[in-house]
Amino acid sequence: MRARLLLGVLCGAGLFAGLAHASARPMRASDAALLRRAPTPEEVIAQDVAARLTRLRPEVRCGPLGISVPAGALVTGITLIPPHGPAGYFLLLPEMCNYLAWFRADPLRYDPSACTDSDCRKTDELAALALATVSHESYHVLGYRNEAQVECYGMQSIWFVATSLGSSVAEGQRIAQYYWTHIYAEREKATPTYWSAGCRDGGKYDLRPKSHSWPS
Ligand SMILES: [Zn+2]
Repeated sequence: MRARLLLGVLCGAGLFAGLAHASARPMRASDAALLRRAPTPEEVIAQDVAARLTRLRPEVRCGPLGISVPAGALVTGITLIPPHGPAGYFLLLPEMCNYLAWFRADPLRYDPSACTDSDCRKTDELAALALATVSHESYHVLGYRNEAQVECYGMQSIWFVATSLGSSVAEGQRIAQYYWTHIYAEREKATPTYWSAGCRDGGKYDLRPKSHSWPS
């Protein structure tokens, strides 16, 4: 049986109408306290996945993103760019960190193919969004700055995040497919900066052009 999670303000109507991942922003002195403290267990989960994906050692913190968000938009993560050198940190909304920990505790709970009602699908959308935020920000850490490219690459790596947190490859692929059809499909109109016609099987942002399995 699926647990009903308290989604709070994230569960409003039109959740994804204004959806956007954050662009990277400059690191500020005011970030220091958050970055200096030891990571929580949820942050360690996100860091470990990002480290596997990037083969770097990014640090992740869950907390305020330090940006103003327009009404109706949901910004779930942000990569911090230092004055010199590569990005080594990203921030996630605490709700996204919670979903990562819940997902790792019971991946099958978030398999969208098992949903039979809208509450379940809303929960699974948020879990998919949490996985996609980690992969999206990981591509920023790798140095990519074009949001359409980053979002497309991140979507193609949702399965990797899911399997890193204990899901089967098949479930990871179903979650990525769900993201493609239910979230990415809205981006052309809702958040065009994060959308590209080249993000498709065989398109210019296809990470695996020899494979016709899409998006993973
Ligand atoms: Zn971004």
